[in-house]
Amino acid sequence: METKCRVCGGEVARMFDVPEMRYGTGETFAYAQCAGCEGLQIVTIPADLGRYYPASYHALARPEPVGLRRAVRRWRDAYAVWDRGVIGWLLYARWPEPAIRALAGLELSRARRVLDVGCGPGILARRLLDLGFENVMGIDPYADAPDVVRGDITAVDGVWDVIMFHHALEHVPDPLASLSAAMERLAPDGAILVRMPVVPCAVWDRYGVAWVQLDAPRHLHVLSLRGLETLAGRVGLVVNAVKYDSTAFQFWGSEQVRMGIPLESARSYAVDPAQSVFRPAQVRAWARESRRLNVVGRGDQVMVVLRRG
Ligand SMILES: [Zn+2]
Repeated sequence: METKCRVCGGEVARMFDVPEMRYGTGETFAYAQCAGCEGLQIVTIPADLGRYYPASYHALARPEPVGLRRAVRRWRDAYAVWDRGVIGWLLYARWPEPAIRALAGLELSRARRVLDVGCGPGILARRLLDLGFENVMGIDPYADAPDVVRGDITAVDGVWDVIMFHHALEHVPDPLASLSAAMERLAPDGAILVRMPVVPCAVWDRYGVAWVQLDAPRHLHVLSLRGLETLAGRVGLVVNAVKYDSTAFQFWGSEQVRMGIPLESARSYAVDPAQSVFRPAQVRAWARESRRLNVVGRGDQVMVVLRRG
């Protein structure tokens, strides 16, 4: 972006420097906020983006569960997708998981073709296969996993009933091109599911450049709902549903940025809650606050369903 918003063509309202705080490289990156759509974007898209996605970025945090653990996950996930099962409901209340819960309401049969764009190591695709889904594919430009196709969405052919971008659209240099490619691959009654960080939100107001979901320089565009709607409209898509699904991460992650603790450092709550600087009661309070913010549309991330207009 030299002078205009890459999303809506609007003028720059203000500029600011955002530190890289996932690894703590010590770099800062210039971002701008658009006066029109209110979206945030990195001013210059780095030429060497791959450098900011080391192998550890997509490493599996823990091995795939087996035995009872796997059954527990399956009960929980079945509830998340189909609203079915008392055990799953109890498990979900204890271990909520917005990524798979986002599929609720799409009334998916196991035969539906599901494409996960920017799937990382393919965890979600594997869990859908575990639920009995028959046509699931994961694709990611940086991943190095056996059952994940390497590339962006243009590397995939075929027609899909659900195309998911779970915290992926903010990483691509041209979100309009990604939505356009998704539209070309979407079944007539299909749904595109976008989960993403969003502005405006309470933590952006409260923490500013310490907001953890700026994730400079990986997040190239942090869209507003208006910005997403603008891009979707250009390729013939309309917003069908919106649900905020922010978590306590928005608070502990942003607090850590303020304290100078990189997300992937030994003292990070993400790496080891027991070694972190936060008490469990504090994190629970942030989880409650996040649920309240979601209800009033002020959480820092959102789930949007797009369909053909
Ligand atoms: Zn704009």
